[in-house]
Amino acid sequence: MDLDYKKNDLSQVVAADKAHVWHHLSQHKQYETTDPRVFVEGKGLKLWDATGREFLDAVSGGVWTVNVGYGRESIANAVRDQLIKLNYYAGAAGNVPAALFAEKLIEKMPGMSRVYYSNSGSEANEKVYKMVRQIAHRKHGGKKWKILYRERDYHGTTIGTLATSGQPQRAEQYGPYPEGFVPVPHCLEYRKQWDVEDYGRRAADAIEEVILREGPDTVGAIVLEPVTAGGGVIVPPKGYWERVQEICRQYDILLHIDEVVCGLGRTGMWFGYQQYGIQPDFVTMAKGVASGYAAISCTVTTERVFDLFKEDPSDSMSYFRDISTFGGCTSGPVAALENMRIIEEEGLLENTTAMGARCMANLKALQKKHAVIGDVRGLGLFLGAELVKDRTTKEPVDEKQAQAVVAECLAQGVIIGATNRSLPGFNNTLCLSPALTVTAEEIDRITNAIDVALTKVFG
Ligand code: PLP
Repeated sequence: MDLDYKKNDLSQVVAADKAHVWHHLSQHKQYETTDPRVFVEGKGLKLWDATGREFLDAVSGGVWTVNVGYGRESIANAVRDQLIKLNYYAGAAGNVPAALFAEKLIEKMPGMSRVYYSNSGSEANEKVYKMVRQIAHRKHGGKKWKILYRERDYHGTTIGTLATSGQPQRAEQYGPYPEGFVPVPHCLEYRKQWDVEDYGRRAADAIEEVILREGPDTVGAIVLEPVTAGGGVIVPPKGYWERVQEICRQYDILLHIDEVVCGLGRTGMWFGYQQYGIQPDFVTMAKGVASGYAAISCTVTTERVFDLFKEDPSDSMSYFRDISTFGGCTSGPVAALENMRIIEEEGLLENTTAMGARCMANLKALQKKHAVIGDVRGLGLFLGAELVKDRTTKEPVDEKQAQAVVAECLAQGVIIGATNRSLPGFNNTLCLSPALTVTAEEIDRITNAIDVALTKVFG
C-alpha cells in the first residue's frame, strides 16, 4: 500500500490501527467513539497525520526523543549503508559503529570510559542495578545491595525499574516488587518540605538521613534524574548536587545519573549532570542518543567500576553475565554517530541554550498574565509550567484541566505535554521539549498556543 497521505485515503491504516494496535499509556475505551491519531510524516518539528493535518511538535515525538528533528536523510542514509554492510552481530564480538560511537561519546564525558549497549532506557537502568548488586557480592561481601531513588523520578517500565519509581501510579498494580529499593524525598523547592534558606543543601541532607536510617553499609547506589522529567520538570535547587556528590563519596555510594531524557543536548550541554560539575559512577541514556531513528541505549561507567568486573579471570563469576540481543544491532550506534555529528555541526547545544532562554522568558510573561501558572521552571529546551488553583495555597488544578489545555493547544495544531496519571494530585504541569533545532518563530508559536489555551480553559 502507498502510504502517501497526500495521494491516498489512509482510513484503512487508521482502521487497522484501531482494530489491532494496543497503544502505549492509553485507555482504549475512547477509541470506540473516536479514531486514534496515526502519524505519517515528519520534517523538522512538523508532523502530518493520516488525515493530512499538520502539527507543530513541542514534545519531540511525545516523550522527549527526537532531539534533531524529523526527516533527517543523513541519518537514514548512514543507517541504510551500514545495514547493507553488516546489520548485526551479538554477544562477545564487536562491530565498527559500536566502537566508533563509544569512542566519540566518551570524548564528551570526561572521567567515564566504558559503554554497554542495549535498547531502551529501562534496560540501561536495569543494567546498572545488576552491576550494583554484583559489586555488592564481589566487593562488599553481600552488603551495600540497596539502591536509593527519589520521589517523583522515573526510571522505566520493567519490574526492576518500577521498583525505583518515584511516581506511585506507574508502579501500582504491578507489584509485589523486589526488595532493597528505598525512596528519598524529592527536591522541588516550589513545594517546600523544609522551611530553610539553603534548600538545595537541605534536600540533599534528606538523602543522608535515609542512608543513616538504612545503614550506610547496606546502601550501594543512588539513582537520580539530573532534571526530573515526567515527575514535573524539577530542576534541583542550587547546592543540591554538590552535597549529593559529597554524601556519595562519604558513604562510598555509587552515583547513577539517569540521562534518558536529558542526555545528548536537551539541557544545552551534552549531559544534564555536566551543568552541575559532578562526576557520576554510572550514566544511562536512551531517547536522544539516536533521536528515535534507531533503538539504542547506553549504560556508561568508569574504568574503576569496569575493573571490578575483570579483576579475577580464574573466577567464573568475575564478569558481567548479561546480554542484550539487540544491543548487537549496528543501526543504533551508526544512527547515534550521525545524530551527534548533527548536534555538533549545527550548533544545537548553543541553539538549545538560546531558544530555551526565549521559551523561558515567554513562559514567565505568560505567568504574569495567567494567575493559574504557579511556577515556571526548566533548563535548556526542557521546560514546565505548573498550574495551580490558587498561588497562595498552591493547590494543583485538576488533571482534566491540564489535559484540557493540552487539547486546546492540539486544536491549534501544537502538540504539548502534561504530567499525566502518574502522580496523584500533581498531574498539573505542562511540559515542553521541542527538538533542539527549534526556531524563535516556532517557540513563539508554541507559547502563543498555550496563551490562547489557558484563556479558553481558565478565562
Ligand atoms: N528514565 C527516564 C528518566 C525516563 O523518562 C524514561 C522514559 O520515559 C525511562 C528511563 C525509560 O525509558 P524507556 O521507555 O526507553 O524504557
